[in-house]
Amino acid sequence: PLILGIESSCDETGVALVRGCELLGDSVASSVDQHVRFGGVVPEVASRAHLEAMTPTVRRALDNAGVKLSDVDAIAVTAGPGLAGALLVGVSAAKAYSMALGKPLYGVNHLVGHVAVDQLEHGPLPKPSIALLVSGGHTSLLLVNDLATDVVSLGDTVDDAAGEAYDKVARLLELPYPGGPPIDQAAQRGNPKTIRFPRGKWGDGTYDFSFSGLKTAVARHVEDADRQGEPLVVADIAAAFQESVVDVLTRKAVDACVEHGVSTLVISGGVAANSALRALAAQRCQEAGIELRVPRPRLCTDNGAMIAALGAEVVAAGLPPSALDLATDTSLPVESPLAT
Ligand code: ATP
Ligand code: MG
Ligand code: FE
Repeated sequence: PLILGIESSCDETGVALVRGCELLGDSVASSVDQHVRFGGVVPEVASRAHLEAMTPTVRRALDNAGVKLSDVDAIAVTAGPGLAGALLVGVSAAKAYSMALGKPLYGVNHLVGHVAVDQLEHGPLPKPSIALLVSGGHTSLLLVNDLATDVVSLGDTVDDAAGEAYDKVARLLELPYPGGPPIDQAAQRGNPKTIRFPRGKWGDGTYDFSFSGLKTAVARHVEDADRQGEPLVVADIAAAFQESVVDVLTRKAVDACVEHGVSTLVISGGVAANSALRALAAQRCQEAGIELRVPRPRLCTDNGAMIAALGAEVVAAGLPPSALDLATDTSLPVESPLAT
């Protein structure tokens, strides 16, 4: 079946066409430029941008895939989690397509979509796999027995998400929003050994994470340098911050694989685009004999392909479609791949 996927949970309007594990075409429109001067996503601005971008983005995705709307067999849409007004635009569009085409509608989970997208790059995910989901709003370790029906959360952040930590630290260092890419770049010129930042929840025997103490430590470091009139060595701070983040993330992810006897780790979500995370994970997985799967950076950040990929899984599993009164759920739990 040909799945049309629609994503609008935050500031990317993403649309894609997927058949099984094959990505036929996709298109992403981002309103990030409109949020830069506010240092974060402004929900009302994002909603309006989705409204304007939705129809042209669907059109571009269909053109890229070389298919017609009438070829579509099912529509998958992000039902949550995300911003209420932003989600509503995608869900409303998906309902309209579902009704107009007479094809089933599936409201799916954005977070599980981040994991499912890897199938478009590396083929079917072995069952079970461990997934490290690191995005702007979430940081979770998942035991994925089945993408459509059985996702178990092993641990979560107790405060900030990994991407949120990047964004907040970038602001402290006066780097632009979103902070992940500029910190990634600055860190490549820095020496991570010049400063030792704390590793939150390191070796605490859980799969939970904490990044707010790290952010506070960076803030204190910046204040101290200011007070003493010393120049800020942004590259070193970025490198040391990043090393603390990726050290804990990769350690706990590998530990979870070992404890659960799972030989595949998939890392996904916007922060999976990070070069240091990809490099350290590759090294530690190799040492532990674990197969590492990380989608290409373009598929790590928000897009429609991830939603179509999960939609394809849900359809293949024979799960019932969502009703046409499907509601958005701003805090849909990661253990619910399909919204009810
Ligand atoms: P969620 O998926 O939790 O709802 P989101 O959809 O806003 O949140 P994503 O689009 O998956 O999040 O990821 C965005 C985050 O990824 C931002 O915090 C951004 O700073 C971060 N990010 C992007 N590229 C990189 C990078 N190279 N290194 C580190 N972080 C990055
Ligand atoms: Mg975004
Ligand atoms: Fe996301």
